[in-house]
Amino acid sequence: MDLNTVTTLRTARTRDDLRLEPGETVLAGGTWLFSEPQLEVSGLVDLTTMGWEPWTIHDGGLSIAATCTIAQLLEPPAPPDWAAAHLFRECAEAFLMSFKIWNTATVGGNLCLALPAGAMISLATALDAVAVIWTPDGGERREPVATFVHGVQSTSLQPGEVLRSIELSTAALRARAAFRKTALTPLGRSSSVVTGRLDLDGRLTLGVTAATPRPHVFHFGHPPTDDEVQRAIATVDAWYDDAHGAPDWRAAVTLGLAYEVCEELRS
Ligand SMILES: Cc1cc2nc3c(=O)[nH]c(=O)nc-3n(C[C@H](O)[C@H](O)[C@H](O)COP(=O)(O)OP(=O)(O)OC[C@H]3O[C@@H](n4cnc5c(N)ncnc54)[C@H](O)[C@@H]3O)c2cc1C
Repeated sequence: MDLNTVTTLRTARTRDDLRLEPGETVLAGGTWLFSEPQLEVSGLVDLTTMGWEPWTIHDGGLSIAATCTIAQLLEPPAPPDWAAAHLFRECAEAFLMSFKIWNTATVGGNLCLALPAGAMISLATALDAVAVIWTPDGGERREPVATFVHGVQSTSLQPGEVLRSIELSTAALRARAAFRKTALTPLGRSSSVVTGRLDLDGRLTLGVTAATPRPHVFHFGHPPTDDEVQRAIATVDAWYDDAHGAPDWRAAVTLGLAYEVCEELRS
């Protein structure tokens, strides 16, 4: 839709260009920004012109730029020992997807929008990704994506901060991983997404997204028993309530998915 409150558009090419004036907001893929009125926004600063490499494989793991599109995310030729690489496609396909979203929506836009069904939130929390955030004073801060997302459309981003990238460690990428999703219809928005990761040292990480307003990540020193899984899921303080599922139903299906994920990783 036309954003008729917007009177300026700047294309960012340097970090200085990302200093936001009052009323300005950053534009990534624009798939959400242009989907509803933005009455507080009078100017857009295009982040996609920064020229960031969509992804970089390095000794420590994988760096994914905030401007990497969902389609670009699936391009990296995963090294053969990245056993968790199948999560990229599974999480990408958990999007309520269209051609436009696939090719235009960005990883950073999905994380910063912080919707419960944020498919990139599922991916990032499954792999204990760390968000790299550029601060307006020219500095940088890092934070696990699991705490970066506070709730529905709420993150730790402060005014003027920009998400630069997310970092995934080689250790996490080499882990065995499992993915389960429930939605009310075959191609519908996710009602619950549960991910699991079994690290080479035997530690297991369980991630719950889409069913809750914010991501929940549980770390176990060993593959948990069903009782341990049940106790962990019972600590979730709030279940999301919308047209894609009632809270009590989401709690029940999430527990079932968590059992399945842990059983797959134990076998
Ligand atoms: C048909 C359709 C289906 C959708 N399905 C889903 C779904 O299943 N799950 C879901 O979560 N969402 C869904 N969405 C919502 C949205 O389009 C996506 O979340 C998308 O990933 C947003 O990415 P974008 O790059 O287009 O962000 P934009 O629309 O450009 O930006 C989104 C918000 O994030 C801010 N932002 C973007 N990048 C940065 C950055 N690097 N640093 C700081 N702030 C930033 C923007 O200022 C804006 O407030 C859907 C939308 C449509 C139209």
